[in-house]
Amino acid sequence: MKFKVPRGTQDILPSESWKWQKVEQMIREACEVYRYQEIRTPMFEQTELFQRTVGDTTDIVTKEMYTFKDRGDRSMTLRPEGTAPVVRSFVEHKMFGWVDQPVKLYYIEPMFRYERQQAGRYRQFVQFGTEAIGSADPAIDAEVIALALDVYKKVGLKDIKLVLNSLGDKDSRTAHRDALVAHFTPRIDEFCSDCQNRLEKNPLRILDCKVDRDHPLMKTAPSLTDFLNDESRAYFEKLQDLLTKAGISYELDPNLVRGLDYYNHTAFEIMSTAEGFGAITTLCGGGRYNGLSEEIGGPSAPGIGFGMSIERLLLALEAEQVPLTNDDALDVYVVTLGDAAKQEGFQILQQLRSSGIRADMDFLDRKMKAQMKSADRLQAKWVTVIGEEEVEQQIVQLKNMAEGSQQSVSVEKLIEIIQAEVN
Ligand code: ATP
Ligand code: MG
Repeated sequence: MKFKVPRGTQDILPSESWKWQKVEQMIREACEVYRYQEIRTPMFEQTELFQRTVGDTTDIVTKEMYTFKDRGDRSMTLRPEGTAPVVRSFVEHKMFGWVDQPVKLYYIEPMFRYERQQAGRYRQFVQFGTEAIGSADPAIDAEVIALALDVYKKVGLKDIKLVLNSLGDKDSRTAHRDALVAHFTPRIDEFCSDCQNRLEKNPLRILDCKVDRDHPLMKTAPSLTDFLNDESRAYFEKLQDLLTKAGISYELDPNLVRGLDYYNHTAFEIMSTAEGFGAITTLCGGGRYNGLSEEIGGPSAPGIGFGMSIERLLLALEAEQVPLTNDDALDVYVVTLGDAAKQEGFQILQQLRSSGIRADMDFLDRKMKAQMKSADRLQAKWVTVIGEEEVEQQIVQLKNMAEGSQQSVSVEKLIEIIQAEVN
């Protein structure tokens, strides 16, 4: 029997994992600059949390969740997205009582969705997300958007654009909803069965349908923008002013509705415009979710956040051919000849490592030539050679690989020399 990695998932091997570490490091640095702090929530939650918040008519809830009964007969679901768990935690830990408001959180964690596998779409993917909860100030919307853009800038992406829309508040949405129902009802039988369901439950979702996206009624559908009430319009205008003043350019797209039910007011996506980037060009999606806290039994706590997957970020880097630099070259490779030297060499190896020096040695009892080859392949900056004579004299031969020079030094001196250059 042969085993394979489950469909839609991937092993991230050392030839790739260093890139993940690099990107995650840059993300953490950006979050620190913006004073967002990390939160880690469990990988699974009660199923109902997602049903109530993400919404019963969304793709996520209707067909993408990994749901299972635990041994106590409770329905649990592997986290498909990060906002609901974070808001659940916000309410549970009474973060609304914390002195510093809004509470600004971020996470870098795996999400699970039963999707059809294709480029940029996995069943397990890692999402970097932020949530700023406890403020309905458009400036925090602008901040969250700026942070997402800064991350892409920091990793070196250039071909990206910000697309923006406002979904308005509850009243605006209700007015729009009625108009949508009136618009689609006469010809709803030309739409997919999902859309027919959506018409009653959540007609806005029809605009986000991937099956019927080219139906002529889609283009003529009443636009949300025309239904924004004064308050919603003012909020949206303030946000646009803030972005413009901060030098952030954007496109408006009145059809941008986003996949989840809980969004209102600001909705945005960041897309790759790189040539050769696959069919899926959305790198990041986010929006405001006033009312979500109340929905799960918390107090009023308006919030905004986004999610972006590391997978799609890396694909975008590839499409733009932005190189990440790998600086994991070895400092020292310890070459030993014979048993006694091996014993001594291992001790020296550990001393080097205790001093924070990146060092390795041969574990296959190979000949000197093969050991030197490994040192080369691992791009070791130095090689120490230890033979019988060196053991007797308590010294090592130290070769500087770039310069091609060699000297005999004591172990103390060895560490001194290397540390001086490494730090
Ligand atoms: P899509 O329309 O592509 O299905 P979505 O609306 O389901 O996106 P969100 O739930 O808003 O996406 O997730 C935010 C971000 O998470 C996306 O912009 C993308 O970067 C990433 N993402 C979502 N689903 C996947 C997936 N299956 N594999 C990899 N990344 C994903
Ligand atoms: Mg999706």
